[in-house]
Amino acid sequence: MAKSLAVLTSGGDAPGMNAAVRAVVRAGIYNGFKVYGVYKGYNGLLNGDVKEMDLRSVSDILSRGGTVLYTARSKKFMQEEYQLKAAEYCRSLDIEGLVVIGGDGSFRGARALSKAGIPTVALPGTIDNDIACSDYTIGFDTAMNTAVEMIDKIRDTAQSHDRCSVVEVMGRHCGDIALHTGIAVGATSIIVPEIEYDLERDVIARIYEQKDTGKKHFIIIVAEGVGGVQDISHYIQHRTGIETRATILGHVQRGGSPSLRDRLIATDMGVAAVHLLAKGIGNRVIASQNGKIVDYDITEALEMPRVFDDRLYKVAMEVSI
Ligand code: ATP
Repeated sequence: MAKSLAVLTSGGDAPGMNAAVRAVVRAGIYNGFKVYGVYKGYNGLLNGDVKEMDLRSVSDILSRGGTVLYTARSKKFMQEEYQLKAAEYCRSLDIEGLVVIGGDGSFRGARALSKAGIPTVALPGTIDNDIACSDYTIGFDTAMNTAVEMIDKIRDTAQSHDRCSVVEVMGRHCGDIALHTGIAVGATSIIVPEIEYDLERDVIARIYEQKDTGKKHFIIIVAEGVGGVQDISHYIQHRTGIETRATILGHVQRGGSPSLRDRLIATDMGVAAVHLLAKGIGNRVIASQNGKIVDYDITEALEMPRVFDDRLYKVAMEVSI
C-alpha cells in the first residue's frame, strides 16, 4: 500500500483552516504520499469518516472561510480506549502521519495519537491567538480585520449621535484580538482578561479626560473573557450621562474569507508539517516565531506560559488620550 498521511480540523473553526488543509494535501502529494481528509475532527477517525483527497479536491478552497473537512469536539476521543482505536484505524489505512489543525485541546489529542504510535503534527488554528509558542495563529488576522471593519461601522453611528459604544470582541482567555483591534479603531479603553481593571480609573476617568479636550464619541473594547458589556455600558451611561450602547460582535469574527496573512501562514505551516512527517517526526507543534516557521515538542508547547504584550498595551494607552 502507498504510504499515507491524513489531515483533520478540530475544535473551533478559524478562517485559514482550508488554506492549511490545501497545503497539507498538495505538499503531501508532492512528497509522494497518498493523503486522506478526515471529517469532523477526531470523530472521523472513530467513525471511518475519511476520504482520499487528490490535487483538485482542494481547488477553490483557499479563499473560503470555515473548514471543508468540518470540525467537531469529540468527547469520546478524550478517553485512551478511543485514542487507541483511532490509531488502529490509521494503521489500517497505512497512515504514517497525521496533521491536526486546531487549538490547544486539539494539541492534546495530537499528543495522545503520537503516543499511540501515529506521528502527529499540530498546527495552531484558532482566532484567539492563545497559543503561547506561536506569535500568530491561523485565523487571528482575519478575525481582527473583521472586527475592525465592524467597529468602524459602529464608530460611524456613535460619532453621528455623540455616543459611547462598548464592543465585545472574541478572546476567552486571551486579550490579543481586543488589544490589536482596540489600537486599530482608536479605542478609549481596552479591557482584557490579562490585566485587572477598574471601571472608574480605566474607563470613566479616560472618558472625562478625553471629553475635556473636545472628544464626543467613545469606543470601549472588551474581550469576551471579561464579559459584562451590558453592565459596563449601563455604568458608563449612569456615570457620564453619555448615551451608551453595547454590541457583542460574536461569531461574525470566525467567518469570512481568510486574509492574505492567514493564507500565507497556513500554507507555510501546512507544508512544514508535511516535511516533518516525511522524516517520520511527530508529536510536534508548528509555530511562527519572529516571522520564521519553527516547531516544538507538543508537551513543551502546552506548558509554555502565554505572555501578554504589555508593551503594546502601553502603546495603546499612550495614544488613546
Ligand atoms: P479552540 O481553541 O477553538 O477551543 P481547541 O482545539 O482548544 O480549539 P477543544 O474543544 O479544547 O478545542 O479540543 C478539541 C478536541 O480535541 C476535543 O473535542 C477532543 O476531541 C480533543 N481533545 C481535547 N483535549 C484532549 C485531551 N486531553 N486528550 C485527548 N483529546 C483531547
